[in-house]
Amino acid sequence: MSTEKSKMTPIVKLLDDSSNNLYVKREDFIPYSFGGNKARKAYYFFEEIDNGGYDYVMTYGSSHSNHCRVIANMAAARGIPCLIIGPTEVSETTYNSILMEVFGAKIITVPVEEVHDTIEKELQRLRSEGYNPYFIQGGGHGNLGTRAYVDCYDEIIRFEQQENLHFDYIFFASGTGTTHAGLVCGQLLAGDDRNIVGISIGRKNPRGRDVVLDSIRDYLSEEKRDFSEEEIQEKTVFLDDYISDGYGKSDEAVTEIIKKQMILNGMPLDSTYTGKAFYGMKEYIKAKGLQNKNILFIHTGGTPLFFDDLNMIGGK
Ligand SMILES: *Cc1c(COP(=O)(O)O)cnc(C)c1O
Repeated sequence: MSTEKSKMTPIVKLLDDSSNNLYVKREDFIPYSFGGNKARKAYYFFEEIDNGGYDYVMTYGSSHSNHCRVIANMAAARGIPCLIIGPTEVSETTYNSILMEVFGAKIITVPVEEVHDTIEKELQRLRSEGYNPYFIQGGGHGNLGTRAYVDCYDEIIRFEQQENLHFDYIFFASGTGTTHAGLVCGQLLAGDDRNIVGISIGRKNPRGRDVVLDSIRDYLSEEKRDFSEEEIQEKTVFLDDYISDGYGKSDEAVTEIIKKQMILNGMPLDSTYTGKAFYGMKEYIKAKGLQNKNILFIHTGGTPLFFDDLNMIGGK
């Protein structure tokens, strides 16, 4: 697995109508289950599962969840049963949920307020039946997920060295905040300077940013690395200006950008994560009047969601 983990994803330049040099790191090209940030994180969780003698995987997420699809895929590949707890509120059929079924995952949906207790209850049940279950937080949240994006940050630095280039800005979709935390930790550990801007796809400030900050502090304390609170605060930029009506909700402007990027750059985006973040990035660049900057967008994956959205951009 370690060789898989260290694979670099491509960084390519996009056609763009601003004076900036806009690049994208295609995490959707991670060579497993349509890739994406959930695949990058999942390698780390399954390394622990493989080495720890676990025989059951359990996680949490909605029927739209890229994370649950990847976890169900990796579990099925090993012949390990997989149990997914999902909120009834977001349980309609999607390409991701169909794939979870194809992988043979068992899915239990409960009202969102019962999720926590259901997870506890199911873990106890599995242990009482003699299993050694491994629980992965929704979205692959936690220090292992953070580590995956510290490593991604190192890949970005290596690319810059090879190409003799410096990115002034990095933008991406920030959800559970693990991707965001990993990038900021990567920057703190590398001691370099640039703007890392997380575009929230659902959570508002201050909570959304607080979750990112907690993940950063958790990771750094596990690594026994000490940074001042001031430094951590300064590096953590979490914009909640582009969330529309919340998680999974988007505006016409996002749909337009999804269509435009597919046509112009052959790049699929989706309305829940990458399309929203790309839209937020473009608006931010305009609002701040950024010019002649090197800008990196991290495409965090979610390709099946692009197909769920296809009718929104004029597909049948
Ligand atoms: C989960 C997800 C995100 C958000 O990542 P977090 O680490 O949870 O913040 C962004 N983009 C896509 C496509 C995702 O599936």
